[in-house]
Amino acid sequence: MFIRKIKLRNFKSFKKAEIEFRDNFTVITGPNGSGKSNIIDSILFCFGISSSKTLRADKLTDLIKHGQKEAEVTIELDGYIVRRRVKKTDKGYYSYYYINGKSVSYSDIERLIEKLGLNTEYNIVMQGDVTRVAEMTPIQRRKIIEDIAGISEFEEKKEKALEE
Ligand code: ATP
Ligand code: MG
Repeated sequence: MFIRKIKLRNFKSFKKAEIEFRDNFTVITGPNGSGKSNIIDSILFCFGISSSKTLRADKLTDLIKHGQKEAEVTIELDGYIVRRRVKKTDKGYYSYYYINGKSVSYSDIERLIEKLGLNTEYNIVMQGDVTRVAEMTPIQRRKIIEDIAGISEFEEKKEKALEE
């Protein structure tokens, strides 16, 4: 599964941009503050990961380019085009999701994430995560590996069974 293209419109520092990805490996370089991490934020935004810690934004509005009322991110994957739009109005903020051009609910996005195996919690290593992992105790680090390997689920079941 590859991300083929990301299209941004009024997302954070980007007015309009199209970023193409090649097979296997792509590196994005640039000076500090040029928008590299904003591109990662756009992936999280598009798949609806809105916790402020991962997204580096307190409010959804921080993601709309200053002075604009609407932001949009489109991600082209093999066989799927996922789009999210957020709109600022007098009454509040509205989010819209689309899969292959069709308006969908967030639960449809969740189902697609599941189907594609896009675990954004571990597939995306955020700035600062490497330091965080390096500073963890061996037990905390082991927990991450167990989560990724899917062992934690069985550990919890085992604990429960032992209690009973
Ligand atoms: P570094 O190398 O330091 O990690 P970076 O390339 O990852 O830098 P980003 O964090 O992606 O940089 O971009 C930060 C820039 O995005 C800042 O200049 C900030 O002003 C701008 N920015 C963030 N949100 C918005 C917004 N809503 N509207 C306009 N610009 C924004
Ligand atoms: Mg950065």
